[in-house]
Amino acid sequence: MNQHTQQSQPSVYFAPIFPWQQQAWARLLARYDRLPHGLLFSGMQGIGKRAFVWRFVAWLLCEYRDQNLTKPASEQGGCGHCQSCQWLTSGTHPDLQVLPVASLPTEIESQYAGMAGDNSKSKNKKTSASEKATKGTKSNKATTPALSTTIKIEDIRQLLPFISQGSSGRRVCVIDNADQMTVAAANALLKTLEEPRDGVHILLISDMPTRLLPTIKSRVQQVAVAPTAVQSVQAYLMQQVKTEALFEYTDESNLAQQINQALALANGAPLTALKMLTSAWYGFRQIWLNAWMALRSGRRSSIAASDYWQKTLEIDDFIKLSEFMLMDISRYNLGIASLQRDVQFEPQLLQLPLESICALLAEIDDIKLSCKQNVQDKIAYDHLMASLARL
Ligand SMILES: [Zn+2]
Repeated sequence: MNQHTQQSQPSVYFAPIFPWQQQAWARLLARYDRLPHGLLFSGMQGIGKRAFVWRFVAWLLCEYRDQNLTKPASEQGGCGHCQSCQWLTSGTHPDLQVLPVASLPTEIESQYAGMAGDNSKSKNKKTSASEKATKGTKSNKATTPALSTTIKIEDIRQLLPFISQGSSGRRVCVIDNADQMTVAAANALLKTLEEPRDGVHILLISDMPTRLLPTIKSRVQQVAVAPTAVQSVQAYLMQQVKTEALFEYTDESNLAQQINQALALANGAPLTALKMLTSAWYGFRQIWLNAWMALRSGRRSSIAASDYWQKTLEIDDFIKLSEFMLMDISRYNLGIASLQRDVQFEPQLLQLPLESICALLAEIDDIKLSCKQNVQDKIAYDHLMASLARL
């Protein structure tokens, strides 16, 4: 169980269910003969909604679905080898439509790969350029399974023949980021939700369900996939962090504290917390603060700081770390105490004016953009250090 992130990644369609989703899974499958036409899987990012949906899709379409029902709920899923399951794996299932198309998972670039963090990298070591290039494209896709692209009425119209055609068997339509539908698109979809056809399932996924039209929400049934039992989340994270983390935790109680802190920082989203704890940058938060103080006071030059960080972290990780720390400082500025209990903020950093921090964050955004346009890491690092030294 829970081998979501082993070396050989299981396809997202057939991966084990997360422990905090077992009840929801069992409840949903128990109603298999009277499943609602429209289902909504909603909640903040990092709770495993999409993983749940893809597993559910595999089960719905699997040729052995009904035979599967004699197994315990947590073991029910797609069989992984029938024609339907093979189509899923190859991304060519004729009875599955996904909007936007970019959200369709493939076996290699599964969402799990993104959730596991960059665990292919050894401790604090830079990877080779070619390795980085492949990883870059991979992780970008995996961690952003669905970019915020608007779903237009034409997109929904193209789906309608698929939804309305008469045929035996089940057909599944997944609309990821359903809150990104335009009003016209939502209204077009509404008609099909009001006139359900047998065997057709429309699965909506949304990180921001408050943005969904109430008419849509009233036509679909919500499936609760967010964690409710903290204990199962903690146990899961304990297990995963031990096998995946890039740095060692001194002991179990320290690890338990770290897990609780990361969960608090992630607003309770387990996969976001896991990503944090197993990232290359999370362990460098205190060093980042010390280095920034040294830069600001002139004890260390921008060039020296740039050299140090270039040897220590990938530019992407350094940017994530900087954004994380600056956001925390800006929250302090708004009167919200930091949730990071394991680092020491110098008072003068906490007193920095909010406008300056926002300006620096905007500058980091520009640098991020330039990195995407293949500006050399060294140049980006030099630029960043100069900006940090100025503030
Ligand atoms: Zn199957």
